[in-house]
Amino acid sequence: MLTSLPGLALHPRSLAAADGAEFGLARTDAGARLAVLAPVGSPLLAEFEGETSEHAGQTLLLGPTSPQNAVALRGHLPWLRPGLLGLRTSAGLGDRLGLATPGHVAAVRSVGGRIAPIFAQQSIREMTRTGRTPQQVMDDATWGIFQEGWREGVGADADHLKTKADIDACLAAGFTFFTIDPGEYVDAAADTAVERTLRAKYAVLPWPDLVTTAAGLRNAYVGKRIEIEDRVLAFEEETLLRAAVKYGRAVAHVARMYRHLTDGRPPTTVELEVSVDETDTPTSHAEHVFIARELRRLGVRWVSLAPRYVGRFEKGVDYIGDLAEFTADFAGHAAIARALGPYKLSLHSGSDKFSIYPIAAEQTRGLVHLKTAGTSYLEALHTVAQLDPATFREIYVFARERYETDKVSYHVSAQLAVAPLPETVTDADLPALLDQFDAREILHVTFGSVLKERRGDGSSRFYDRLMGLLRANPEAYAVNLERHFIRHLRPFVRGA
Ligand SMILES: [Zn+2]
Repeated sequence: MLTSLPGLALHPRSLAAADGAEFGLARTDAGARLAVLAPVGSPLLAEFEGETSEHAGQTLLLGPTSPQNAVALRGHLPWLRPGLLGLRTSAGLGDRLGLATPGHVAAVRSVGGRIAPIFAQQSIREMTRTGRTPQQVMDDATWGIFQEGWREGVGADADHLKTKADIDACLAAGFTFFTIDPGEYVDAAADTAVERTLRAKYAVLPWPDLVTTAAGLRNAYVGKRIEIEDRVLAFEEETLLRAAVKYGRAVAHVARMYRHLTDGRPPTTVELEVSVDETDTPTSHAEHVFIARELRRLGVRWVSLAPRYVGRFEKGVDYIGDLAEFTADFAGHAAIARALGPYKLSLHSGSDKFSIYPIAAEQTRGLVHLKTAGTSYLEALHTVAQLDPATFREIYVFARERYETDKVSYHVSAQLAVAPLPETVTDADLPALLDQFDAREILHVTFGSVLKERRGDGSSRFYDRLMGLLRANPEAYAVNLERHFIRHLRPFVRGA
């Protein structure tokens, strides 16, 4: 038995038996090590790398948390392999540092395990900014899931994919949930374009890709009344022209990406999300209907869709906008998702949107996916602020320097002039900076710069210290994450 070997400090929830061997994750001075105990001569041992020793007819292998060992472990412990979540209420808990999964698991358990989780989730953009590969994102989640013994199933979200090469890289790493972002094919100018421009743009849509003609699409919509539960959407010609010009190319792109994703692969092994959340103007109900009907006509199947809702979804802070207006908008989208799917509505930039969670849960009747990412990095900074105020202060000073540059690719409205000056905040008050709107956004969008910043001698300025602190204090980080994510997940637990 692994547990009877002396001197091995094992994470108790990691212990598992499969295929004649025992597995566990050990804490050692050199960090986490995979422990495998199998009969001497077991061929299974050859799949793993590490040092071996013999104990009463058994071989103990102690190995690194390496890619090879992650692959081998997933081969023997099926719950580590991402699967499909289908229409279950679900949440994506993205993790830019690769150390958050234990805290995420704790939060999902705390709400009764009733939210289907995605622990491996990162967009190609964020992978580039954090210098991680799809395989590292997958493996970091694997080790966290293994450590905490989460056996109730997981998905893995290759987020905001824009190209076929993105799909291939994430398929190879074992991702199962593919978020296709056709944002660059969305023509938001269609909202306000004059008739002549609209007609000209409509005429040159990629008709072969859409497998119809200008006249054919017109006939399918204009003058039609589309019933969605107790609502009726009337498509006038202008409604169709605006929807088609705005989203027609995006629909064609998603269909191309979907065909690539499912090429030579049963569609039942992967699931698709369609996201147009990162675009300039809200998706109207008629446009949502257009997107869903056209994707379906082109043979695309998806489990969730992220329209661009009304209001502002800024990073890491609560919803900004009128709640009554949001409720009315969201209710319509939820009805469409039920009537034309069913599929889930996805809430992107979903972290910290506490004021709309109850609305989203109620209106979708549980057909909802919540997606968060950067907020786990903010909890890492929160932990650093508690453990090492000097390092956190240095990060905050640096983040303020970077903000005007780094904010460009994000939807944020924080102002440097409003965020507290570092020298006016006492050490004891530093953690509270994470609760101040402007400081929080400033810290949120500068993560890439913070993680990548190097000193003159090439050594990391913050990354090694940050990771060292979190690795040395895993409980402190996990406790912060658990508390923070219970607030995210609880509103989505039905009947709670
Ligand atoms: Zn998004």
